[in-house]
Amino acid sequence: MLSSAENTPADARLDLTAEIARDLIRFDTTNYGEGRSNGETDAAEYVAANLRTLGLAPQLFDSEPGRTSVVARVPGRDSSRGALVVHGHLDVVPADPDAWSVDPFEGVIEGGLLWGRGAVDMKNMDAMILAALQDILGSGQQPARDLVVAFFADEEAGGVLGSHYLVDTHPEVFAGATEAISEVGGYSITLGGQRAYLLQTGEKALIWIKLIARGEAAHGSRLIHANAVTRLAEAVARVGRREWPIRLTDTTSALLAELASVLGVDPQRVGPDELALATGTASGFIQASLRTTTNPTVLHAGYKHNVIPDRAEALIDIRTLPGDEDKVLAEVAEIVGPDIEIVVMHRDIGLETEFGGPLVDAVVDTLGRHDPGAPVLPYLLSAGTDNKALSTLGIKGYGFAPLKLPADLDFPAMFHGVDERVPLDALVFGRQVLTDLLSNY
Ligand SMILES: [Zn+2]
Repeated sequence: MLSSAENTPADARLDLTAEIARDLIRFDTTNYGEGRSNGETDAAEYVAANLRTLGLAPQLFDSEPGRTSVVARVPGRDSSRGALVVHGHLDVVPADPDAWSVDPFEGVIEGGLLWGRGAVDMKNMDAMILAALQDILGSGQQPARDLVVAFFADEEAGGVLGSHYLVDTHPEVFAGATEAISEVGGYSITLGGQRAYLLQTGEKALIWIKLIARGEAAHGSRLIHANAVTRLAEAVARVGRREWPIRLTDTTSALLAELASVLGVDPQRVGPDELALATGTASGFIQASLRTTTNPTVLHAGYKHNVIPDRAEALIDIRTLPGDEDKVLAEVAEIVGPDIEIVVMHRDIGLETEFGGPLVDAVVDTLGRHDPGAPVLPYLLSAGTDNKALSTLGIKGYGFAPLKLPADLDFPAMFHGVDERVPLDALVFGRQVLTDLLSNY
């Protein structure tokens, strides 16, 4: 069991980024999904107060009581350039304290790492954004172009009460913005001993569905063939076991070519899965970016050991390649069969943008200054971000939360995992890279 480093001498040397990230972790902004959440207001007010000390005028938006997002505009040196949205989300997924080595909401600092729910996803980046702004504005400088800094509520439930709400009801706060950077990209992986960075240039589409099986309610001792639990279990197993075929997109083709070149292998001889596996810790994300996935995540059925319920439900998290949503949904309907009702709870588009252009060049150049010689590779995120909502305003989004990580840290596994933790020096690196990028791009 690790102990809190609170009030220890190490605190005095804590970088501002770690300090802010730790403060944010201590606001339990758990988002349970399906409309249940602890809310983001306290964290949003903390962020707003921080922005005000930098001379900014943050606006707070409540989509519902307790569901607060914060947006502030930072004037740049050249407002004729398109504004860049730099965004994070303030909510986190639930954490089961029994499964963790530390209290997930204490903000423990131990072994050179900051531990806690959100240390990776994504209070780390929230803190890096605030610390980079402090570096730029606090020294009397300005970013190169106008920035729209946004801290959204509700990302972990699809952004309905966060980014989508803001884009739909207050699009004016993003006026003039052409591009965005945010989470799940920019971190380093190790490829055959070589450190490389993944820049997220696309994300899969998502469809969250509920399967409903109906049957006959009866005494648990009866001979019943129309058992809702059995029907549901069969459907869930078929969907969960379905192996979707690999389909390469522009992004994944480009990534595989780059991987082959870094690893010095012939992509004609080494298959996509094998190449993805060679990325080590990132392979979980990358393999999932090569095909559709349909993962059962929640089961609801029954209320008494000796009562057969007349209804059983399951939630399935479907992530398709961009554009494949309707085709996959039709195939899932076929897989589960006509006895199972499918309710689409939430769906959102996939995104894909080219690995090129001025922002990508600036990201590559900036990383090159801070970690010379490390290649930057494009990748398609198997999950989704608030960039989906921003894309409806024509804003091109990238995943770039820069972190230089040790080879032995399985960083991607910590998104929504237990014992989320981030090295303190990676936070400092991220702050420096962001400061550089925002000062010059
Ligand atoms: Zn996230």
